[in-house]
Amino acid sequence: MRRHNAWFHLLTLAVAGASFSGALQARGSGGLAADGVGKAQHPAEMVLLNGTVYTLDRRHPWAQAVAISHGKIVYVGTTLEAKSYAGPQTRVVDLKQATLLPGIIDSHIHPAQGEFYIRRACDVHSSTLDELYSRVKHCAETAPAGEWVVAFGWTAVPDEPIALARLDALVPDRKLLVIAGDSHTAWVNSKLLNDFKVTRDTLDPAGGSIERDARTHEPTGVLHDAAAWPVINAAQTGSAYGGPAEQMFARALPYLNTLGITSILDALVTDEMEEGYHALDTEGKLTMNVSLAFMVKADNYRTEIPRIAAKRAKQTPHTRIDFIKVFADGNLEDNLADMLPVKGKPDFATHGYFTQQQMNDVVRLAEQYGLSVFVHSIGDGAAREVLDAVDAARKRGPCPRCRHTITHLCWVAPSDLPRFRQLHVLANIQEGWLAPRAFGGPPGYDYVKDMAQGPLGPQVAMPLFPYRQIQRAGARLSAGSDWFFTDENPWHDIEAGATSRDPGAVDETPMLPDQTLDVESLLRASTINAAYQLYAEKQTGSIEIGKQADLVVIDRNILKVPVDEIHKTQVLMTIFEGRELPR
Ligand SMILES: [Zn+2]
Repeated sequence: MRRHNAWFHLLTLAVAGASFSGALQARGSGGLAADGVGKAQHPAEMVLLNGTVYTLDRRHPWAQAVAISHGKIVYVGTTLEAKSYAGPQTRVVDLKQATLLPGIIDSHIHPAQGEFYIRRACDVHSSTLDELYSRVKHCAETAPAGEWVVAFGWTAVPDEPIALARLDALVPDRKLLVIAGDSHTAWVNSKLLNDFKVTRDTLDPAGGSIERDARTHEPTGVLHDAAAWPVINAAQTGSAYGGPAEQMFARALPYLNTLGITSILDALVTDEMEEGYHALDTEGKLTMNVSLAFMVKADNYRTEIPRIAAKRAKQTPHTRIDFIKVFADGNLEDNLADMLPVKGKPDFATHGYFTQQQMNDVVRLAEQYGLSVFVHSIGDGAAREVLDAVDAARKRGPCPRCRHTITHLCWVAPSDLPRFRQLHVLANIQEGWLAPRAFGGPPGYDYVKDMAQGPLGPQVAMPLFPYRQIQRAGARLSAGSDWFFTDENPWHDIEAGATSRDPGAVDETPMLPDQTLDVESLLRASTINAAYQLYAEKQTGSIEIGKQADLVVIDRNILKVPVDEIHKTQVLMTIFEGRELPR
């Protein structure tokens, strides 16, 4: 039996023109040695040499080379030692000093909606109404064969509504659906109103509303939330822009792979989507690990939590269920965020979607079924409600396997900041939201200033996205893009999180300079910390012997280049379980 436990202490190693000081570790393969045979008899399938390897393993952060066998990392260390893992059949990749990182883990993403809204629907992001109409016209001219014209990305201009008559003039005889950038509102033409039998006599559905002309009470073509869902769903499943979930994933996931992503949390999964993931995995076509979060609501969690837990018995090799998705509140712009009272302005206090008792019950029941909660929380009241619910659960007893996570965290009360660490609650950040562009509007648009001037001013005066404060208070940060809503490109998001500017906008004034994070922390949030959130830190998230070979090769060392160049990062190679994925 042969074991390599040699340690090479290289004081100075020149990599990519820079010098790193410190110990560089090289260790042999425990896995191969366990078979009683050494590397000479069983060479690695792939060896990556001459790289700038950042491992995310705090004990041995830098290396030059990695060897992979049976989908796992069997060696991390020097090029010299790694060469001895190569046999005649081994694929040897000379990285030529390119940077090798663990595969990116997006721990809050919506791939099916990203595929439908962003990659397939016609883009109508515009800053004026005239621009919007001209884009809709272009969409109609270039629409795929079929009866639908589907567009996405309009951010409404206050006091200047879209005119139904103008939409009808642009698209008189086909179905026209324009979806808002946040997906909460849809504008439809008269053809769609007729097809869906939306008339002056149609009642508003629960959780949604139909806008009506003040004088005639006729629908204006503007549908909010539950009123818009049937139309959006019909377009997603029945138009040339959409398709069955499996087909959407079959397109979206390889695209995400090309950005370096090898694991995700799909933060809002339906039964149909679950089937889509399972079908792909059964066919051997699922090229990432997928954690599935099904939603529960205040009126169904008692039956949904057991139903979701029961699904775990039939998961496929690359899918797992550890979370329930909970919307503690809605969005601030719609006045649905759960905000604590603002000093001197008690009227600003609003309510979320759960009572404290219900939230306590959700956490208790989730834990009872071995699940953690993944909670959408915008207002500071929502965050407190979740922390209080976890606190109540901990008073009943410890939960070592819990990975309760709160996502978004637009506002957090200062007194709640230390509670993330105390209660072992993860903070799932969207660092891309620190850039103004995340919220639409023309170039240079400052979301925070804009909100502060409106009725939301008192809330905005409190730190918005207090990500740095949460980190300083000792919380474990994991990161997710929240694509479709915001940019899925992790290199754009890391730059935005480090600069609070739109990627590449070097002259822009940072929107929230006090909340930016260092690049290493952001990378950690998108790799090993996200792996921890997803119960996968023993399998992936860092470059360590014995872990799955989920890796990404990029053209620059993002820890060394100027931060405003990170968005230019090109992915040269994505490896999932030791297999290079197509580009
Ligand atoms: Zn989301």
